[in-house]
Amino acid sequence: MNDVCNMCVIADALPDELILRSSDEWIVYSHPEYGHSGAVFIQARRHVEGLWHLDRAQTDTLGVMLQTTAAAVKDVTSAERVYAVSFGEQDLHFHVVMLPRTVDSPGAKRGALLVAERLGQKEKRSKKADAATLDQLRSSLGSHVDKPSQD
Ligand SMILES: [Zn+2]
Repeated sequence: MNDVCNMCVIADALPDELILRSSDEWIVYSHPEYGHSGAVFIQARRHVEGLWHLDRAQTDTLGVMLQTTAAAVKDVTSAERVYAVSFGEQDLHFHVVMLPRTVDSPGAKRGALLVAERLGQKEKRSKKADAATLDQLRSSLGSHVDKPSQD
């Protein structure tokens, strides 16, 4: 862990119930204090600043982690689109945020505007609803890992 990295601190303190999937290379989680409801973080276990610093094992496993997580988010949230974004401006630790965009999102607020709004948004979230969503995401993610898309 990097002593000054907020993302390392968050990952080290995550309670089990927020972790959706974990491997030697990646930790997949949702956090009630970060991101919009339905947002899922895929974070490098090892502190790396960006894609250009991934090691071979991280590089080899990132695609599967992205695809299975996006499929789970799409299934559970009934999203029409699933956005995958990675900025690395505030926290210099590589992570991707998956954000569902549902069919009822206004057209004017889709794409980058929706991402900016949702990542900066503090919303009132129900712990009970969040826990139910996490259980559904965990279950869906497991099924997608066991049976990758054939499309
Ligand atoms: Zn870090």
